[in-house]
Amino acid sequence: MTFEHADVRTSSKPWGSHDLRPWSRYGNSETAIGELRFDRPETHAPDPALLFKLLFTKQRLSIQVHPDDAFAHSMGMANGKTEAWYVLSAEDSAQVAIGLKRMLTQPQLRAAIADGSIADLVKWQTVAAGDVFFIPAGTIHAIGPGLVMAEIQQRSDTTFRLFDYGRSRELHIDQAVAVVDLGPAKPDKAATCLTAERMKLVSCDFFVLERIDLPPDANWELQAQRETWALVTAGDATIGSLRAGVGDAFFAEADRAVINVGPSGLTVLLAYADSAPQPGLLRDLDDGKPDFAIRESPQVGIASKKPDSVSLRSAEGHL
Ligand SMILES: [Zn+2]
Repeated sequence: MTFEHADVRTSSKPWGSHDLRPWSRYGNSETAIGELRFDRPETHAPDPALLFKLLFTKQRLSIQVHPDDAFAHSMGMANGKTEAWYVLSAEDSAQVAIGLKRMLTQPQLRAAIADGSIADLVKWQTVAAGDVFFIPAGTIHAIGPGLVMAEIQQRSDTTFRLFDYGRSRELHIDQAVAVVDLGPAKPDKAATCLTAERMKLVSCDFFVLERIDLPPDANWELQAQRETWALVTAGDATIGSLRAGVGDAFFAEADRAVINVGPSGLTVLLAYADSAPQPGLLRDLDDGKPDFAIRESPQVGIASKKPDSVSLRSAEGHL
């Protein structure tokens, strides 16, 4: 197996963007593109467990919720959908909504959907580049305009729309009310420095999301044990035999690759199908030490890689 440069599929969406730069060259499309979805280039490869996407929003998305595994199984689907977002860029005052402002009963939620007041009952918050959000299945959520976000999620397309601001798309109110958590989202969980180079942004039963910051002109080895997706968000490098710049995504499984970092360093979002950070994921080839001694403490600020730029606002638990 080798590291694979991921293919990109675009999805047009009514809330999408015509300008995807610098993340993609699909920026001059006639159509508004809402999603770039990364795929393995090998068409006969088995489906990965995770979906890795970029979202581009110029209008509000629907207010929605996804089922958990148990509910999805009861509908004959393979799995539910827990997801996480990393904000790549945000216009001033761009917002997302996660959870409800207060507890509602199911009849109150139905009434709020019917009269549109649901749009004010979800808890909106202003976001900035570098913010991270964890959206367990069952959490009501929405994304506002002016955002570019990376999304990692269980492989599922099951979305129950509660409200779509008068657009004509189908709603799924009965299913949504059946799976939704009827209160505020659970408290935040802090991002954690694992090593000087690795920051754990999210870990849950289905995936781990990390941000990797490597210094200029360094040489590292990345060992991917599980299904692993990587997206370059800053800098450049050679990964194995592949050139990697901003917007390039890679897939690997049970493989390792040498990373020769370019003169401006390298920042990568790394998502892999595991329930806890993988020791030994990165090895510094210049000093030979593996990173097995993961230091998992919530002391954000211990590393030298400007961890203060990451704030994690999540809804933890109840998967
Ligand atoms: Zn969603």
